[in-house]
Amino acid sequence: MQFFQQLSQIKTLNSKVLITIVMGTLSILLGSIVIIGWYTHELTLIQVLPQFVPMQYNTALGFILCGIGILTVLSHHFFISKAVSLAIIFIALLTLIQYIFRVDFGIDQLFMEHYIDLLTSQPGRMAPNTALCFVLTGLAIFIASHQWQGKYKLGTLELIGFFILSLSILALYGYILGAESAYGWSNLTRMAIHTAIGFIFLGVGIITYTWSMETMKIASIPMWIPAVIWLGGLLFDLALPLGVAAGIIYVPLIFCAIWFAQPYASFIFAAIGIFLTILGYFASAPLGENWMVLSNRTLSIFVLIVVSILVYFRRALEIELAGVRLKMEANNTALKRSNEELDNFAHIASHDLKEPLRAIHNHSQFLLEDYENELDEAGVKKLNRLIYLTNRMEKLISDLLYYSRLGREKLAVTETDLNLVISDIKNTMKDQLVSKNVRVKVAEPLPIITCDQVRITELFRNLISNAIKYNDNDEKVIEIGFEEMPENSNVSATRFYVKDNGIGISEEFHIDIFRIFRRLHGPKKYGEGTGSGLTFVKKIVEQHGGKIWCESIPGQGTTFYFTIEREASWNS
Ligand code: ADP
Repeated sequence: MQFFQQLSQIKTLNSKVLITIVMGTLSILLGSIVIIGWYTHELTLIQVLPQFVPMQYNTALGFILCGIGILTVLSHHFFISKAVSLAIIFIALLTLIQYIFRVDFGIDQLFMEHYIDLLTSQPGRMAPNTALCFVLTGLAIFIASHQWQGKYKLGTLELIGFFILSLSILALYGYILGAESAYGWSNLTRMAIHTAIGFIFLGVGIITYTWSMETMKIASIPMWIPAVIWLGGLLFDLALPLGVAAGIIYVPLIFCAIWFAQPYASFIFAAIGIFLTILGYFASAPLGENWMVLSNRTLSIFVLIVVSILVYFRRALEIELAGVRLKMEANNTALKRSNEELDNFAHIASHDLKEPLRAIHNHSQFLLEDYENELDEAGVKKLNRLIYLTNRMEKLISDLLYYSRLGREKLAVTETDLNLVISDIKNTMKDQLVSKNVRVKVAEPLPIITCDQVRITELFRNLISNAIKYNDNDEKVIEIGFEEMPENSNVSATRFYVKDNGIGISEEFHIDIFRIFRRLHGPKKYGEGTGSGLTFVKKIVEQHGGKIWCESIPGQGTTFYFTIEREASWNS
């Protein structure tokens, strides 16, 4: 009673579990009916038709045990299910040993004196294929009862389920089409027709059990598709006993593995295909030359193995790539978030620092104005220095604020004519260009690009003013140009350059100069600066999906190169 209550309380009572329960129950019913038949001498129950082989008493007992095994696995009575599975394996193995070693342990008629021995090699002995199916079923129940949670557990169970189902369908097919070799091996006892049906129950029960146990979705196609291909292939092979390379029909089955989470699914499908190909050979009476049929089947098996290996590697690679992609996406998101946090931090910090700084500045100013006469020369000098330093710090903080704003604000992308950008910069810097004797050569008509016009203008202005600032030549020459990156290069970008004939930068600083507040000179030399111009430039380039670097020969000049992606894919 408690057992049935537990069975009805199975948490994941879905259609697959229900089918498993029905299959287990049908197996018990079948075995019980046949046993009743043996006791009551009701031949229809034992044989179905008078010309058919009877279901042996041990076989009927086996079905009852298997049914109990399946139901106790579902209700988590693993002690019982394990004991039952061992009993089934024990009886079936002993039977097989009796066949192989031609011995008699007296188990065949232990419970029942057999009074029908039609198509039976030894009275009461179950058929060898029946015994094999029981060994497999017992094994499946044992594995299912075990706490072992290895990743191959469900795959193994499923494979066993398909083997049992294949053997039983083959036997049933033999009865329907009258092919005796399909349900009887050599001249040994045949498998009874209702035994075949019983194993269909058990095979289906085991398969639906494994499907119900899969906690995660293991395939992106419905599980019945490979099952239909498998069944269709088997029936096709049996219906056309031509001895052709019939195993090829199982190739689509292997391809189903592409939709499975585990790459080794291809091997499981290949094993099923190979098993069925071999079965098909024995089951169908081949027309034509026997050696040809045999070599055809061998060839099919070879093809199945090759296909399964190819599918396995493809799937394994796909899974690995997906893993790498996921990792990269996660890294990108984390990087983006940390960048945003940094920008926010810089914004808040610089914003809040400005206020006390302004107060220090104002107080120093008041102090100087009100007490200038009372202070000595050193005191006045120190106050002036304080005011200078607060001014400088204010500039640094403003730059930091601006830098964080660059990161926080979205780009305003438009079609931008760079010729207009450069002539605008030249106009605004006109006085400086004349007074410092600067010649700006725009090497070619510059292209029209998709970008944030304001930021790109700022980028060029920064590079041009540096080219003027860090230049000791009497005649300062600045060259601006571009070249399209070759179409076959892996980035579709335009490369720009700004070249000067200035003081140059020694190689060890080529990366350093892009760091914020990094300056290579003291404030007295080459004018005042905060060391953030190139950091802004770098950020703007990167926001446009590009890279920036420089080449330089100290004493001769520097060329800054940067790329801007053509497709504006960075904008998405
Ligand atoms: P700033 O000009 O305010 O110092 P930048 O970030 O623009 O800050 O430049 C960082 C440093 O890189 C400069 O201090 C300078 O030493 C060096 N630098 C930049 N542009 C050039 C150039 N065209 N030629 C030589 N040195 C340069």
